[in-house]
Amino acid sequence: MFRTKTCGELRLADAGKKVTLAGWVQRSRKMGGMTFIDLRDRYGITQLVFNQDVNAELCDQANKLGREYVIQISGEVAERSNKNIHIATGEVEILVDTLNILNEANTPPFTIEDNTDGGDDIRMKYRYLDLRRNSVRANLELRHKMTIETRSYLDKLNFLEVETPVLIGSTPEGARDFVVPSRMNPGEFYALPQSPQLFKQLLMVSGFDRYFQIVKCFRDEDLRADRQPEFTQIDCEMSFVQQEDVLNTFEGLAKHLFKTIKGIEMNEPFPRMTWHDAMKYYGSDKPDLRFGMKFVELKEAVIGHNFSVFDEAEYVGGICASGCASYTRKQLDELTDFVKRPQIGAKGLIYIRMNEDGTVKSSVDKYFNEEDLKNIAAKFEAKVGDLILILSGPKRKTQKALCELRLEMGERLGLRDKQVFAPLWVIDFPLFEWDEEVQRFFAMHHPFTSPKPEDIHLLDSDTGNVRANAYDMVINGVELGGGSIRIHDSQLQRKMFELLGFTPEKAQAQFGFLMGAFQYGAPPHGGLAFGLDRFVSLFAGLDSIRDCIAFPKNNSGRDVMIDAPSKIDQSQLDELNLIIDIKE
Ligand code: ASP
Repeated sequence: MFRTKTCGELRLADAGKKVTLAGWVQRSRKMGGMTFIDLRDRYGITQLVFNQDVNAELCDQANKLGREYVIQISGEVAERSNKNIHIATGEVEILVDTLNILNEANTPPFTIEDNTDGGDDIRMKYRYLDLRRNSVRANLELRHKMTIETRSYLDKLNFLEVETPVLIGSTPEGARDFVVPSRMNPGEFYALPQSPQLFKQLLMVSGFDRYFQIVKCFRDEDLRADRQPEFTQIDCEMSFVQQEDVLNTFEGLAKHLFKTIKGIEMNEPFPRMTWHDAMKYYGSDKPDLRFGMKFVELKEAVIGHNFSVFDEAEYVGGICASGCASYTRKQLDELTDFVKRPQIGAKGLIYIRMNEDGTVKSSVDKYFNEEDLKNIAAKFEAKVGDLILILSGPKRKTQKALCELRLEMGERLGLRDKQVFAPLWVIDFPLFEWDEEVQRFFAMHHPFTSPKPEDIHLLDSDTGNVRANAYDMVINGVELGGGSIRIHDSQLQRKMFELLGFTPEKAQAQFGFLMGAFQYGAPPHGGLAFGLDRFVSLFAGLDSIRDCIAFPKNNSGRDVMIDAPSKIDQSQLDELNLIIDIKE
């Protein structure tokens, strides 16, 4: 046997036992005639001791071991005189009598420690070394536990895990497809699934009734901290359900994960908020409810003071930051610069201070007297010591900017504690979203989402206001998952494609199989998908989903370790009947 114990296993009760361990040299220290080595494996660290006086040759050998050498040792477990209470094995050490070097190692390009000196790029290039670090490994362990618990929860509810293909045609989820050329069908391409959406619906038509899959999805989008070109969904679908059934089932899954993984009992039902209210009060379809600071709309209250910034704005709204009246000029300037950043795009920031001495002062005192300001402050129920921050401009854009400002203030005030979890369901999304640029409607969720039955009559007359049976689960401002009740009627599905600008021919060519399937007895059905990477990141308190993915891509979509994507050989291109002609 290579080893009789792991490096995380030995305790004081094992003192006196003969053991064999194998692992990596984490670090070594020489103190007088003694050499101490921390031996590391996946399970922990055990201290090894070599004594010059007992075995000089062995000790010399130990002194030559470099960081990350792979070694095997045998020896006796002994009580440590200098105990380390920070690690589970800290009460013992091994008095080594045999040492076997299994493999040497180059000096790693960064330290394999929790607080490594390695920057992002170098860690990604040597990801196999990065994965040796406790913190990264712990994220993958957490991920494993979450998938096991998910499978066990869904299995108990009769969900069946079914694999769906990866080489498929397009599944429109609003992103660009990754495509794969087909050698056997020259000039034709597969698309990688943006999700298994159509397959899971077809499984419902097949009578599978309750499906799930922990599955890779691919979307060619610009990357952000919570996006990777390939990511993993917990994808689910159910037949004979209404929205309420789906919400209850998956709220149950979320609560199960909170309980089994985080030890948090969530006994209350998750609050529900309509999309309309989420936008009105938080300027976002994924509000962070760990703190208040709800928006107050002010247009009515502020017009007519000859202040054109307000008078001419489509929207005026603000938030009230508790206890911030004492903000200095510099702090207010910082906030103004923050909202003026190009990605936020506000023109400026107006404030009202509720001073400790009872006076109310603002950056628009020229237009609003103290009485006016007090009336505005009353709308926020502002108290002495509070600071009101106001933005104005085009409605959606300003709400978005105010949302960013609210999050920034929440951050500054320490209200976004990663140990606090504030879940909710956002419901009643609009079915369509108007795109100014191309002057047409897009499906806000995807084209298979069902309108609310009571809004179907508005499909032609008031398309933009039709609400969908669609929902998102949001926790701490992160969209963890979302789904919808689907259309299961081929006529309605055809109508939906028409409203989305598909010609009947194009709809038939792309989705004929689905509408065909709907003519062979499609049950009412609906479902949702969780983003597993986001779920794990939320539980681990990570800032980027990258840290819970074993081999992630960087922000340019590259795997810098294997250097992909890359050019391919001419012979491969020939086989695929492809000629590369890159446009400038
Ligand atoms: N396929 C959808 C998505 O990836 C989820 C769903 O509607 O079930 O967002």
